[in-house]
Amino acid sequence: MTQHARQSGHFGRTTVGLALAITILLLASPAAAQNASNATLARVLVLGTGGTIAGQASARAGNAYDSGKVSSADLIAAVPGMDKLARISAEQISSIGSQDMNDKVWFDLARRIRAAIDSNEVDGIVITHGTDTMEETAFFLQNVIDTDLPVVLVGSMRPSTAIGADGPANLYEAMRVASAPEARGRGVLVVLNDTIHGARWVTKTNTTSVETFRSPDAGPVGYVDTGSLRFLQPAAPAKGAKLKLPEAPPLPRVDIIYSHANMDAAPIEDAVKRGAKGIVLAGVGDGNSSKAAIDALAAAAKQGVVVVRASRVGSGFVNRNVEVEDDKLGFAVSLDLNPQKARVLLELLIANGVTDPKAVQQAYGATP
Ligand code: GLU
Repeated sequence: MTQHARQSGHFGRTTVGLALAITILLLASPAAAQNASNATLARVLVLGTGGTIAGQASARAGNAYDSGKVSSADLIAAVPGMDKLARISAEQISSIGSQDMNDKVWFDLARRIRAAIDSNEVDGIVITHGTDTMEETAFFLQNVIDTDLPVVLVGSMRPSTAIGADGPANLYEAMRVASAPEARGRGVLVVLNDTIHGARWVTKTNTTSVETFRSPDAGPVGYVDTGSLRFLQPAAPAKGAKLKLPEAPPLPRVDIIYSHANMDAAPIEDAVKRGAKGIVLAGVGDGNSSKAAIDALAAAAKQGVVVVRASRVGSGFVNRNVEVEDDKLGFAVSLDLNPQKARVLLELLIANGVTDPKAVQQAYGATP
């Protein structure tokens, strides 16, 4: 992307306002949008959900901003050169900060993506999204969307009105990935800060840095900038059956219980009382917890609550039957999935009727 596009002023409110008129002309009519570009370009559907990438400076003091104020169509129109990458259409699914991401938006996204793929409308999908829960949405979609086409989530750490806004470059690079044949067959991807991550491995690691996304156990799957797109490995064929999306939200309730020193059984007993169908332990170390907590989890498992041990550590694989007797107590382990992604998978498994600990373990991955 050009220097011009990287300057925050060109992505500010004035440009966004001017761009709005152009965008309405271009995007109000799908035919007009398609004529605007070369018919050989990939067709990419952009689905907006909100987030900081769509954030604007707030009237509140300091560097406060409000998420999800700018539509995805406006975001696209404010980035020069996008029309050279793909034939782009844009739709708004929601306008929320991703701290408010929820089952309804997930279902709406999954259904729209499936419909676009089934009707051969698209060659790739870009989803604009807040970074806070981006990894959860990416992993949810990875589990319910069966396609080789690129599905790429993108966000930014700085709002569109900030000095040095990172949204324009990120959006341009996400479009580059979504329109590239070599991005096919790689599952759902996350693109930020010139880096491409896979949905299973990516996680947000820094509260404010533009270099926040990392894949601690696997590393990135590739790199992208305005001049190049590089994947580090050949695409791997999709493996494993996808999970069925239930008829309607909500997904079954699964609570994450965070383990810590001096932990008692109360949070686990409360979760069971509140009707949790599953519990993910964000355990200390290798997914461990106090004797009181492990005993309470064992009691919950006996009552039919599905228990999965994950770790609060941030990297590494949780091992079965090392310090905790998983076979005896009826627990599964999340392996490399962090607690928030282990929760997404458990919600989907329970919704699909998979509750037997051995079958649940199989879904998280084979253990040595
Ligand atoms: N809370 C915002 C969100 O997730 C901030 C994070 C961001 O988008 O970068 O939508």
